[in-house]
Amino acid sequence: MFGDDVHIDTTVLGDGDPDLAVVGGVHGDEPSGPRAIQHVLDRDPELQRPVKFVLANPAAAVAHRRYLDADMNRVFPGDPGSEDRERRLAAELKAELADCLTLSIHSTHSSVEPLAFVSGSNPDAQAVASQLPVSNVVNHDPAVDGAFTSCEGVVTVEAGRQLTENATTNATKMVRAFLRLTDALPEEPPESDPDFYTAESVAEKPEEEDAQLLAQNFERVEAGETYAETTDEEFVADESFYPILMSETGYDDIFGYRGAFVGEAVEEARAAWGTPPQDGE
Ligand SMILES: [Zn+2]
Repeated sequence: MFGDDVHIDTTVLGDGDPDLAVVGGVHGDEPSGPRAIQHVLDRDPELQRPVKFVLANPAAAVAHRRYLDADMNRVFPGDPGSEDRERRLAAELKAELADCLTLSIHSTHSSVEPLAFVSGSNPDAQAVASQLPVSNVVNHDPAVDGAFTSCEGVVTVEAGRQLTENATTNATKMVRAFLRLTDALPEEPPESDPDFYTAESVAEKPEEEDAQLLAQNFERVEAGETYAETTDEEFVADESFYPILMSETGYDDIFGYRGAFVGEAVEEARAAWGTPPQDGE
């Protein structure tokens, strides 16, 4: 159904060479990002700074599949010569947005509260994430390889539960907040006060069985507490942790991530993450 010749789809609004970007559809089965982008393009607002709007994997979106050959959000920086279409798309996306502060929109099987992911080594992305309308900002460097957020200047947001109206509404709010806090739109962004976490490790799940998750995302699990169970196995925490993006069905082989709370302010989080100073600081 799909040939080998797949590409990202970029539209520029505003005059000049953009150093801002909004990306949707890294995963083809998460339509909230592409819908939020379409919403902006349809309204064609007068932007004070030019912005690139990018559909990252149009072929997977048409197929309603997370990906065609490889999970694009695990293969950055990508490879232009790869046989896997997502590895080529990742390389194309990274090159296209090399100079851009970028918001990438996802939706999820777990948390309904919007959250942001950043790299601990990326102060520009952290500055954006700390001002978005999210409850939590998570550095996922220790637990995840090859995510788009590993590229400089990229913030990923999980807008809400996959395929819900709510996710699209949140994604649209997120785009508007991003454009406001980068002065592409004139209004002030809404006040925001997220907490900061590090995703430290993956919480594995038996692949074949129906598992039940007992813990709530971002609610502390104490050492000795049972956080999930199957008919014949209990999953007990060795040490206390905060569940992040945990769900029963979101991933084949993991529940999600075990995290640690690192602060209520971005400065505290940066101290915990060892983030280098931002340009101009
Ligand atoms: Zn996704």
